[in-house]
Amino acid sequence: MTAAPRTLPLRLQPAEGEALDSWLEALAHRHHSPLGNLLEALGLPSPKGQQAPRCSSPTERTIKLRPHEISSIAHATGVEPARIARMTLAHFHGRALLLRERQPRVNRHILWGRASGSRFCPDCLASSGGRWQLTWRLGWSFACVHHLRLLADACPCCGNTQRDRPHQRTEIPHPGRCRRAGNCEPDDRRSALCGHDLTDVSTLTLPAGHFALRAQTLILDAITSGAAQFGVYARSPQPVAVALADVRTVASRLLATANSEELSSVVPGDLIDEHLSVPRGRRMALKRPGFMAPSTAVSTAVAITAVLKALSEPDIQQAGSIMRDLLRAMEREDRAVTASDIYH
Ligand SMILES: [Zn+2]
Ligand SMILES: [Zn+2]
Repeated sequence: MTAAPRTLPLRLQPAEGEALDSWLEALAHRHHSPLGNLLEALGLPSPKGQQAPRCSSPTERTIKLRPHEISSIAHATGVEPARIARMTLAHFHGRALLLRERQPRVNRHILWGRASGSRFCPDCLASSGGRWQLTWRLGWSFACVHHLRLLADACPCCGNTQRDRPHQRTEIPHPGRCRRAGNCEPDDRRSALCGHDLTDVSTLTLPAGHFALRAQTLILDAITSGAAQFGVYARSPQPVAVALADVRTVASRLLATANSEELSSVVPGDLIDEHLSVPRGRRMALKRPGFMAPSTAVSTAVAITAVLKALSEPDIQQAGSIMRDLLRAMEREDRAVTASDIYH
């Protein structure tokens, strides 16, 4: 039986909307402690070889915590159990994603669930001291509406996605730095880690009022409230999962079939140009449209912006007109798209 954890000597409150792994690393940094030692102190022992129990790594714990883990962390840190639970993706279960029944895994086949990793806003990292938002892990997040820019997909130095692997237990976390393996920082040859400053990453900036920012706000507000009440849903609000399924269906097919000319009627040119700069293999929705989330923030932005242009339109006639244009683009590929396909 594991002994009850002691109370940590230093307190550090989670940032608003912060992901669990980010907070645990910030706690370890505050204590100047390797992450593994911090986890032991929280009553979260490291896995033992191949017999590792499910839900054992910080990455998996950011998806879902077991009840005794929540109690243990709450006891050691003084943070309310409910607040700790809100720092895991389980908080969005049934709204923005679905978790698998018996595993701490996101179902990638439903609602654009993102199995692992996190996008990030370099400005948010800079202003918060390297704290990561939980919503950046959602397949639905593509822009920061506070800093008016697209989110970054990966470290530009080593090219790796962030936060899809557990942090090294023997290392003291350094918030805001790339923690993936790689040695591309010429001034730090001693470390096997990349170490790139993630606050210094360029992404496309968007002028205030850009429709992509409006689309991101509509999506995140609906996820937060649990209901879609904008545009075509205003008269008859729908559970957010229903609205996101609508968006996913049309958006995925658009990415697979529409050309830049067709997209340009509903998507601002700066987004299309950025989208076209992504290698074609990463730009496509996927082999099976609608199956999984787009791999880049800009592709997600293009697809969601196009569909929200129609769905956010309060005038149902106008919404129908925009949607007809989008459907025409899809039918070009001999895809038999019907109303039931979209509003299933
Ligand atoms: Zn930001
Ligand atoms: Zn890196």
